[in-house]
Amino acid sequence: MNYPGRPRLFKFFARRSLSRTFAAMIRINENYTKLKASYLFSDIAKRVSAYVAANPSKPVIRLGIGDVTEPLPPVCLEALHAATDEMGRRATFKGYGPEQGYAFLREAIAQHDYAARGCKIEADEVFVSDGSKCDCGNIQEIFAQDVRLAIPDPVYPVYVDTNVMAGRTGASVDGRYQGITYLESTPANGYVPSVPSVATDLIYLCFPNNPTGAVATRAQLQAWVTYARQHKAVILFDSAYEAYIRNPEIPHSIYEIEGAREVAIEFRSFSKTAGFTGTRCAYTVVPKSLVAYDAAGNAHPLHALWTRRHTTKFNGVAYPIQKAAAAIYTDAGKQQTSELINFYLANAKLIRDAMTKLGFACIGGDNAPYIWVNTGRDSWEFFDLLLNRAQVVCTPGAGFGKCGEGHVRISAFNSRENVETALARIAAALK
Ligand code: PLP
Repeated sequence: MNYPGRPRLFKFFARRSLSRTFAAMIRINENYTKLKASYLFSDIAKRVSAYVAANPSKPVIRLGIGDVTEPLPPVCLEALHAATDEMGRRATFKGYGPEQGYAFLREAIAQHDYAARGCKIEADEVFVSDGSKCDCGNIQEIFAQDVRLAIPDPVYPVYVDTNVMAGRTGASVDGRYQGITYLESTPANGYVPSVPSVATDLIYLCFPNNPTGAVATRAQLQAWVTYARQHKAVILFDSAYEAYIRNPEIPHSIYEIEGAREVAIEFRSFSKTAGFTGTRCAYTVVPKSLVAYDAAGNAHPLHALWTRRHTTKFNGVAYPIQKAAAAIYTDAGKQQTSELINFYLANAKLIRDAMTKLGFACIGGDNAPYIWVNTGRDSWEFFDLLLNRAQVVCTPGAGFGKCGEGHVRISAFNSRENVETALARIAAALK
């Protein structure tokens, strides 16, 4: 039967069930849609694969991605084998370990990485993890949603992307996310940004820097600590490459700076120190004297928050891996890791000298495994030039931030033979 009220009634029910359908629908975290379409290294991989497919007879040398090439130091390997055997015997088998790390490793870190440099860091302020990437990415969740961010440009992309995912930024406009104070590192400031003129709350610093290889002096770091104290801010200090510092005047840790225990968290990794990129071990230091505030202005120790986060969401690094990491603090371990780093630094010197000779202004490579080359032209164009004419892969600076434009990063992580061949090819291609 047809009557006038029916279509309206139908529409009403249809609309109601449609809105119910929407309300019940699984939804994504839309902050992910703000992220730039692709990750730098997947873009590079695509261009390199296309080149290799088109030119199978021309072998490519990769001085792009920051992954180590040399095997683990023998002390680490021995410790790994011995600890694996322990896991195979009932008397020495280990199940779940302490989430924050075994005491033997935390104590070795506190003693050798901190006490030996005059820093007061207790073993229970050290949180062992499976990587600095995870730690740098996860740490932001213990801070309020509306903290004001200060992030260097260029820099390791994880700091920006994890805050975008968490919804702390607006959209990306012209290569910059709204809501971030970018700390510009340019030739004008020697690639070490000064403190900003505005107040910020959560400050990321990375020295020796990835990608520029720049290091910060004691006075420069002191200015950051003073700024953080003035603004009741927190510094997240990523020193994944501290073991590459050879200049005795340059601090290895933010805790070498007076007052840093009250304002800084530090990230360190065994990845580049001892070749652990595939083995996975790192640590984060959260001093007990470091606080942040609730909306009412009450102070809360961040050590307690990070302990809660770490013990809730992480179940510890494998025992054999922690044993292997602890082995680097023995006399033999110190000697072997130092030789490993000297090897990469010798590569870095070759690269920096060769690029300088070709007329490019360069920094890095002396206290870091990266050389930052000012190419004076579009960084992807320079990348393509090296790939097509020299079959050498570098990393375009634009992928690390707007200020990276005009630069490329060349990494010292490779065999001596590959570095020498790559440099000879670059010299011939750019003649
Ligand atoms: N921090 C910086 C500055 C890095 O360059 C890297 C790796 O390239 C990491 C952290 C990640 O280190 P991990 O291997 O411990 O995750």
